[in-house]
Amino acid sequence: MTDTIDISINKVSQSNIGTLDVHNIPFAKIYSDHMFEADYRDGEWKNFRIVPYQNISVSPANNTLHYAITVFEGMKAYKNEDGEVLLFRPEANAKRLNISAERMCIPELPEELFMEALTTLIKLDSQWVPSVPGTSLYIRPFIFATDEYIGIRPSDTFKFMIITCPVGAYYSAPVNVKIETKFSRAFQGGTGFAKAGGNYAASLYPAKMAKAQGFDQLIWTDAETHQYIEESGTMNVMFIIDNTIITAPASGTILKGITRDSVLTLARDWGMKIEERKVTVKEIVEAAKNGTLQEAFGVGTAATIAHIARIGFEDEVYDLGPIEEREFSNKVLFELDRIKTGKVEDKFNWTLKV
Ligand SMILES: *Cc1c(COP(=O)(O)O)cnc(C)c1O
Repeated sequence: MTDTIDISINKVSQSNIGTLDVHNIPFAKIYSDHMFEADYRDGEWKNFRIVPYQNISVSPANNTLHYAITVFEGMKAYKNEDGEVLLFRPEANAKRLNISAERMCIPELPEELFMEALTTLIKLDSQWVPSVPGTSLYIRPFIFATDEYIGIRPSDTFKFMIITCPVGAYYSAPVNVKIETKFSRAFQGGTGFAKAGGNYAASLYPAKMAKAQGFDQLIWTDAETHQYIEESGTMNVMFIIDNTIITAPASGTILKGITRDSVLTLARDWGMKIEERKVTVKEIVEAAKNGTLQEAFGVGTAATIAHIARIGFEDEVYDLGPIEEREFSNKVLFELDRIKTGKVEDKFNWTLKV
């Protein structure tokens, strides 16, 4: 890598922003004007460019189409009250992308390149970051293999891209979750810790089965015994019993969420008790049964906090009581929103102005 990163910019002749109604944003349907693209060839990342958002063409023998040699990130940009754009902990996404990449034999993407690509693109499309309370710009960086070769081997060529789309002020409705004890998402030695495409493909069928039973999402358990709670589809999960936050450790089978870390950091700062340890299905179901489960919620970039309304296990469904009474999860949701939109002092240095 040279120390200056030259990004060529080819702007749209006419912005598509007129099609966006910020008060009614359809989820992941309207993409911003531009996208970032880079190629990996001959052992290095090159051809850094921003171009109008458009289709790309790949060979039918593209190895990602066949073998899912792909990793991604998900993050958001927000507007503060002065209309400036803030990114939330983007360096953490840059780091995690490389952790995922290594597991899939995808070459390291220099963090400076990630940050330069990201900030240049977001600056150019800053009008796409909505300012209506609760809205944000969802950012999707991803890398995929591009060899025209259907043999199974690590790829020699790759593409890194960033696309973005505004997302609405969706009030995240409380979710009904099912504790899954048949299917598995991840196992020791597998790819659970990586944001790798195939993990999500494999989770669709179990999630569809749960939907048919009236659940919104799954809570995965460990693949070996199904006795320990791991996480949800795109969220880590936390429980509060006895005024203590209980969550599974971010081990090899769990995606290490940036929201998870942010929530735990705030909780620690507020003097809450935290236990990062194996969480048994039994203790959660018992606490739900006897009314000592004070709160249960998912944490992730999409919803920040998703309150769990009901938990299904085997043939029973347990109602967890009123959302308004959930002191910690409501407080941390409010605080994270204020930090992300620059309404309070950013004492952990989490936001980056672009
Ligand atoms: C992305 C993701 C999360 C949440 O991570 P954040 O960095 O908080 O968005 C949790 N679990 C899985 C499986 C994920 O893919």
